[in-house]
Amino acid sequence: MEILTKTKKRVYTFGDKNADGSSEMKNLLGGKGANLAEMSRLGIPVPPGFTITTEVCTEYNGQGRDMVIGLLEEEVAASIRKIEKNMGTQFGDNENPLLLSVRSGARVSMPGMMDTVLNLGLNDDSVIGLAKKTNNERFAWDSYRRFIQMYGSVVLGMKPATKEDEDPFEEIIDHLKEKRRIEHDTQFTVQDLQDLVYDFKDSVKKKTGRNFPNNPWEQLWGAVMAVFDSWNGNRAIYYRKINGIPSDWGTAVNVQAMVFGNMGDNSATGVCFTRDAATGSNEFNGEYLVNAQGEDVVAGVRTPQQITKLGSIRWAELAQTDEDERRKNYPSLEEIMPKIYTELFNYQEVLEKHYRDMQDMEFTIQDGKLWILQTRNGKRTGAAMVKIAVDLLREGLLSEKEALLKIEPNKLDELLHPVFDPKALKRAHVIAQGLPASPGAATGQIVFFADEAKKFKNSILVRIETSPEDLEGMNLAKGILTARGGMTSHAAVVARGMGKCCISGAGALKINYKKRTMTVDGKVYHEGDWISLNGSTGNVLEGKVATMEPELTGEFAEIMALSDKFRTMEVRANADNPKDAKIAKSFGATGIGLARTEHMFFEVDRIKAMREMILASTVKGRKAALEDLLPMQRKDFEEIFEVMNGLPVTIRLLDPPLHEFVPHQLATQKELAEDLHISLGAVKSKVAELEEFNPMLGHRGCRLGNTYPEITEMQTRAILEAALSLKQKGIAAKPEIMVPLVGTVSEFVEQEKVIRETAQLVFEEYDDKVDFSIGTMIEVPRAALIAGEIANRAEFFSFGTNDLTQMTFGYSRDDAGKFLPIYLEKGILAADPFEILDQEGVGQLVEMGTKRGRASNSDLKVGICGEHGGEPSSVEFCYQTGINYVSCSPFRVPIARIAAAQAAVK
Ligand code: PEP
Ligand code: MG
Repeated sequence: MEILTKTKKRVYTFGDKNADGSSEMKNLLGGKGANLAEMSRLGIPVPPGFTITTEVCTEYNGQGRDMVIGLLEEEVAASIRKIEKNMGTQFGDNENPLLLSVRSGARVSMPGMMDTVLNLGLNDDSVIGLAKKTNNERFAWDSYRRFIQMYGSVVLGMKPATKEDEDPFEEIIDHLKEKRRIEHDTQFTVQDLQDLVYDFKDSVKKKTGRNFPNNPWEQLWGAVMAVFDSWNGNRAIYYRKINGIPSDWGTAVNVQAMVFGNMGDNSATGVCFTRDAATGSNEFNGEYLVNAQGEDVVAGVRTPQQITKLGSIRWAELAQTDEDERRKNYPSLEEIMPKIYTELFNYQEVLEKHYRDMQDMEFTIQDGKLWILQTRNGKRTGAAMVKIAVDLLREGLLSEKEALLKIEPNKLDELLHPVFDPKALKRAHVIAQGLPASPGAATGQIVFFADEAKKFKNSILVRIETSPEDLEGMNLAKGILTARGGMTSHAAVVARGMGKCCISGAGALKINYKKRTMTVDGKVYHEGDWISLNGSTGNVLEGKVATMEPELTGEFAEIMALSDKFRTMEVRANADNPKDAKIAKSFGATGIGLARTEHMFFEVDRIKAMREMILASTVKGRKAALEDLLPMQRKDFEEIFEVMNGLPVTIRLLDPPLHEFVPHQLATQKELAEDLHISLGAVKSKVAELEEFNPMLGHRGCRLGNTYPEITEMQTRAILEAALSLKQKGIAAKPEIMVPLVGTVSEFVEQEKVIRETAQLVFEEYDDKVDFSIGTMIEVPRAALIAGEIANRAEFFSFGTNDLTQMTFGYSRDDAGKFLPIYLEKGILAADPFEILDQEGVGQLVEMGTKRGRASNSDLKVGICGEHGGEPSSVEFCYQTGINYVSCSPFRVPIARIAAAQAAVK
């Protein structure tokens, strides 16, 4: 065992423009401690204090309380003396007491997972001294009762054991409020607060058998040890587990002088931002309240005032207050405390320059003196994120690579879809919560059936779940809401592809197709009622909520151009039609990585021929129906090739099980029987025949092409004829024909043979040729295992990570919604593997497949076209694996471009 000695430095002080530590020392001092030290070094007035290192937390866990107190005693006492000197107060003094805050602070922020104690040092004597000194009895007693409540819960174990149990202190407060017939804490008199102190202490004695500690030193050691203990609390352990934080990191403890913004009219507290967090414009802004505590600003009991005069004037305009009125009732900090405002303004400049990012700062003014309590990189909207990164680059604060790394790729989503007007959103009422399946904002009238989406100009398609039959309706609707299904459910995948707002899996919705109603929490919504969907948060909102169109020029274009400068991996798009191909190209896709041909068959005029083909009982009948489909497919491909103008287009042969194409509703079955001049019974029996127990593992993918080669023949012909026809027009086409769901070499070889034979026929007929390649999806685990053999024949691989995930985990894509949410909640899975590529498991197959494939075919081009192709961490993984391109839905192309550039820069 390590011998613990006193000579090691365990306590680092900060304050008075000095510090033992710095921002480099996050591992030892924790994030908060390192930052406080850094601010102090920069000459920023932070309340003085000290940090007990994270190493002591580990020592405490090994050696226990007494040993650790022995090791810390001298250093802590010396540090307290420093604070006293700095603040002109004394710890444990009755007339002029120094009060302290004690907070946790791990290497990485673990918000709300560990404990905090404020106002430490108060007792029955010093509370009277504090009241006298501040001439504010109410303030002193309110601080004291808050301290007992916090200390009692955190240190003395007064916290309720389960969430059903009542908090003993809250019980006392409620009881007093009832007795006094008041509603808010602010209505307590001094006498009330004194009564609370008495009752709180009484409750502590009864519950713990001990008196509440009066001695400030005993209080301090109790609080420090409680913070160490909270590192091993259930909340913290759980948080560490899901975020992969090692338990031996430990937490630091930060002890700091308390400063108060509620000591009278010369005191205030507030929050400020160095730039506008909503728009990104370089404008200092923020809010404050005179004579208030930090939480008053956020709690919204009093309306906070603007820091800057300009902000105040704008605010007055919004509130339609006249300027004299505004100046009188809502003056800015700039107006009422100009000197302090200037000081604050200077600090924000220093901090932003130093951290080279927009800062979100908290400050307190105690009796005319400004203190900065905290600074951190501020949260911001997607638009602000882009503007700030580009501005900081222009201002020379960031290099190109650094500016690029400031972009959170996923946040770009907000910029690519219509967005809600933030003001309207604030007022909106949330009626249900689902999965944010496809981002954006949609507002419209409820319809329950896809073929009725045209009923209203703006409709929201509300379904229990969607199926391929709903495709056209989904396209027409402004947004899609489903009660069932996860992030890769049909609705989610299709909606993302369309760039259409979608919320899936909103389990609270009870949908009744017969009555055409949707019920949530007892409230009934009918067809035609207005609702709005926030696809970025999963919130379902009541009524109409105003939206705005996004703008993709200016800084957005600049950051995208910058990403291309550093990116080495290609980014393609999954697109099934010319419209999507156009969007993909405008977003910078360098090709199409997956065109799912089945989507082309769902349009009204085609589904009939398709059904005819499926219902045909002979090869001849099938071929006749395919003849009808051929010109339509050819036209599709011609249009896509034309849009892509020489860029590669990967076309996948028919993949889904055939039963998805036949009608399941009686009315449509009747219609089909009439169209085909066959009996309803014949239609019904064919539908029943196609029914499978597990269609996802059934008659689909290349199993279709291998059992019905005429489908492959027709599709190959359509692809090559389209390319030839464009060639005649002088437009280059670069088709790549892709065989889906291959698991054995023969499956591929058989299809390859059909394709090559068809190609030869077509080329002979046209007396002309085009270049094309034949490759395969790798989406069955067996294909990844025998990738070396497959690559002897295939010219390219595209990892279909949706199916590969499904089959590696054995989780049905269609049914995972039933257990995945619970797995995520319980931490059995850290992330949805259909959304974020499981690098540990599925990733191994991708790596192995790529390696083995390239070993036998060094020219093998490798891509990925599952949903993961647009997910930043998965894109980074693909880059590291040496994959040539990722392919994702058009609206995710910019995200993947940034993620790929970041991977290269990192
Ligand atoms: C896949 O399986 O990852 C894939 C792209 O194909 P689909 O989602 O159409 O099955
Ligand atoms: Mg697939």
